[in-house]
Amino acid sequence: MRLIDGKIISASVKERVKDEVAILKEQGITTGLAVIIVGEDPASKVYVANKKKACEALGIISEEYALPENTTQEELLKLIDELNNKASINGILCQLPLPKHLDEQAVINAILPEKDVDAFHPQNVGKIMLGDYDFVPCTPAGIMEMLQYENIDISGKTCVVIGRSNIVGKPMGMLLLHKNGTVTICHSRTKDLASVCKEADVLVAAVGRPNFVTADMVKEGAVVIDVGINRVDGKLVGDVDFQNVKDKCSAITPVPGGVGPMTIAMLMQNTLTAAKKQNKR
Ligand code: NAD
Repeated sequence: MRLIDGKIISASVKERVKDEVAILKEQGITTGLAVIIVGEDPASKVYVANKKKACEALGIISEEYALPENTTQEELLKLIDELNNKASINGILCQLPLPKHLDEQAVINAILPEKDVDAFHPQNVGKIMLGDYDFVPCTPAGIMEMLQYENIDISGKTCVVIGRSNIVGKPMGMLLLHKNGTVTICHSRTKDLASVCKEADVLVAAVGRPNFVTADMVKEGAVVIDVGINRVDGKLVGDVDFQNVKDKCSAITPVPGGVGPMTIAMLMQNTLTAAKKQNKR
């Protein structure tokens, strides 16, 4: 069994981005990311702080806009409009979930597609479908980067994704399809999930339930990618029962230290891509 180390792979992505950001800077071009957070969600605050830290380490200018819980839709849209028009800002990210009274899709729609480094805008979602895209949602993008780094060829493989969210499951399935995988996306209504998963050469779990994927669901020699971030008794665990699954796999990502670090690295990559595009590089 090979452990796919997200810390090492994300470090190599960040190194690459850092070098390119420095080259742009020599040409008088800065790279800037604006992160908007509304309210006091503790997990969101940690994510935003980590994004800011990553920007600083790579020479990317980061601007944080922390808005109060009672921010109106109008106020939020006004800020996005300002950032859309701010030349020093290449990427805009609005940390989700938003407080209930705000219309998440309307907020996503308001971000200029060229600055939508999360790739959630319908235009970018459509481009992923067509296979002609600049930005990919960071978590699936990070997984593809890991597979490539590990020389895991997808072509002709049976790929099963558990979870059909817009930010992980659906784009993940599409990216594997673009690499010529034969893809099945499973969800809460899938019948006989275990036997579907058992067919997978590449199994991606993005469910949000601790130890959901058990050894009997995994084919001998499969590659298992664990996207889940679950907190159990204060400890981070994935969606895969790592202890019992690991010996059946040819390769597996741990939690923590697997997919998690890749997500931020790919956000940095998307921000760099946005800066290059906007400056015609
Ligand atoms: P989500 O809640 O939006 O989607 C979960 C999906 O799991 C749904 O599509 C649902 O149909 C499916 N599901 C639920 N119960 C199921 C069952 N019994 N059988 C089969 N499918 C079932 O979650 P999400 O945003 O896609 O995130 C999934 C997990 O990945 C969460 O733990 C989240 O914290 C984690 N996550 C990690 C990263 C990272 O950087 N590592 C990024 C995003 C999300």
